[in-house]
Amino acid sequence: MSKKKLATVWLDGCSGCHMSFLDMDERLIELAGKVDLVYSPLVDAKEFPSDVDITLVEGAVSSEEDLHKVRLIRGRTKVLVSLGDCAVTANVPAMRNPFTVESVYDRAYRENATLEPQTPTDVIPRLLRYARPVHDVVSVDVYIPGCPPSADVIYYALTELLEGRTPELSSKTRFGA
Ligand code: SF4
Repeated sequence: MSKKKLATVWLDGCSGCHMSFLDMDERLIELAGKVDLVYSPLVDAKEFPSDVDITLVEGAVSSEEDLHKVRLIRGRTKVLVSLGDCAVTANVPAMRNPFTVESVYDRAYRENATLEPQTPTDVIPRLLRYARPVHDVVSVDVYIPGCPPSADVIYYALTELLEGRTPELSSKTRFGA
């Protein structure tokens, strides 16, 4: 059986969901026999490839760069998975949503700066008005709640998807745990 192409993506998240992915420990070796990790913060791939079978998306869509990236990924992925509460609900990144983008920039780059307070105009991707869950901007096939989801849940979901089944997660996950 040929290996499936797996990708993982880190948008506006804390990387905790990727840490949970790594917590699969020795099960990663078993998975390595079934998938090729073709794009991820964990590997040195610069371009998101075409025809990816499964992509796990960590984090909310918060910046213009996130939006561009997740749309491109959706177009190149068969099964797109929202991994973790930030992807599923916007969670922590959405805490800035009651405030304007300019006031967020002021807080980060001026009020808390001790040297040369200034808001960067390049290098840093421009924030969207709101941090949004992934399904607000592209279609999502599978949701894995949790902050972060446990390694057991990620392993279960991945192995089900690799068997061609939709994982039944309602009794295995809950928000915030
Ligand atoms: S869901 Fe939790 S662990 Fe995952 S990126 Fe968001 S804050 Fe971090």
